Amino acid sequence: MQVQSMFFQARAGQRLADARLQKNLKKLSTKFVTQRADAVRELAEFELIREEAVRRRNAALEKLDIWLEQFEREATRRGATVLWAETPAEAARLVVEIAQRHGVRRATKSKSMVTEEMALNQALQAAGVQVTETDLGEYILQINNNEPPSHIIAPVVHKDREEIYRLFELNHPRERTAGRIPEIPAMTREAREVLRERFLQSEMGITGGNFLIAETGSVALVTNEGNEGLCTTIPKVHVAITGIEKVLPTLEDLASMMRLLPRSATGQVISNYFSLLTGPRGAGERDGPEHMYVVLVDGGRTGLLGGEFQDMLRCIRCGACMNHCPVYQKIGGHSYGWVYPGPMGSVLTPSYVGLEKTLDLPQASTLCGQCHVVCPMKIPLPDLLRKLRERQFERGLRPWSERVALRAWGHLARRPALYRAATRLGVRVLKWLGRSGSIRRLPVASGWTATRDLPAPAGKTFKELYAERRR
Ligand code: SF4
Repeated sequence: MQVQSMFFQARAGQRLADARLQKNLKKLSTKFVTQRADAVRELAEFELIREEAVRRRNAALEKLDIWLEQFEREATRRGATVLWAETPAEAARLVVEIAQRHGVRRATKSKSMVTEEMALNQALQAAGVQVTETDLGEYILQINNNEPPSHIIAPVVHKDREEIYRLFELNHPRERTAGRIPEIPAMTREAREVLRERFLQSEMGITGGNFLIAETGSVALVTNEGNEGLCTTIPKVHVAITGIEKVLPTLEDLASMMRLLPRSATGQVISNYFSLLTGPRGAGERDGPEHMYVVLVDGGRTGLLGGEFQDMLRCIRCGACMNHCPVYQKIGGHSYGWVYPGPMGSVLTPSYVGLEKTLDLPQASTLCGQCHVVCPMKIPLPDLLRKLRERQFERGLRPWSERVALRAWGHLARRPALYRAATRLGVRVLKWLGRSGSIRRLPVASGWTATRDLPAPAGKTFKELYAERRR
């Protein structure tokens, strides 16, 4: 997928002015946040499981090479073919070669964010393979000119029922009652009727992999629609594609993750469907693919190993950080300009595609810390964003005015007497600017007052007010 993160500010501005999008995004803070809170409250030992899961993920990352080799050995022993790709482009080339080797013309695909990194659909289509997205949200985006997902687990969260119905009208020829928008179950049924045909015609099923299990060579898949089952049992070829960081040593590790993932993602105790796929169809088995491939993608992940951003590799792609992020809740996922949005994307995108192309992403956070609070893997996202900001500053990648302001602030902060004098003067100037009761326009930081007035401050510093109160 092409990086568009350099347009973050312009895109975020457009999204803020889009009243319909603002209404659609409300379900993040109502439905998703509330459901997660309820699910976590119901599990008394949630914190203990979380601690344990973090320990297990860290242990897996410490010896990642060993677990990956074991996974390859076990998966191969059970008849699967494991392929390695250093870049997303290489991974896409491998999948195209698999399709060509097996004469595939039609493929079905379940949701996978790694395949978005690879721009896999475009690569397959260029090679003459018709690919159908089978996750309902992804299917809706595909019929809308391959629109990218705006959320990692709810790709179409930015659209409402009417917008989706208009796409169905355009893409599914059938008789309709004018002026009537059907209820969601009827629309889902319509999509199922189209997708069922595609499943039956599919010669290759493509999936991601929520986790890989080293001890058994298995791929674990989680969905709510069951489409992963139809992608992996009907076609003669199954290709699972995932990042190398997804490997877990044992099935016991997987059990820990599965107690956290659905709760953190959608507030469910367990997802509707869960598949553990180990090798292709065996002798005497009635379903399953004849050929199974697992493509393991690096795509910048090894660059994070052993460094100050390694914690990010614990991510299990639950989406909780974005659901709770006040910035994401207002601008949605497309503003971020690459595969991964929200706080996790603001760390991952600069790490994978380079800080120069993603200058605004580490700034796209209020650092309120809520993402860290809800992350089941305890990833210190605000700290990682701050580290990226430091790197930007050190490499001179921020605007000169910001660098001068930060240097001036650093100079003052190291001289307490000067700092006190400057803040005393500052609050008095601000009080004078707000003599009508509010500040309409700040002279050097006009962005703060571009869309709202600031209440006038008391004209005294916090320390002065505190001393007064104590007296
Ligand atoms: S960073 Fe944490 S909260 Fe965000 S998607 Fe990853 S695991 Fe979930």
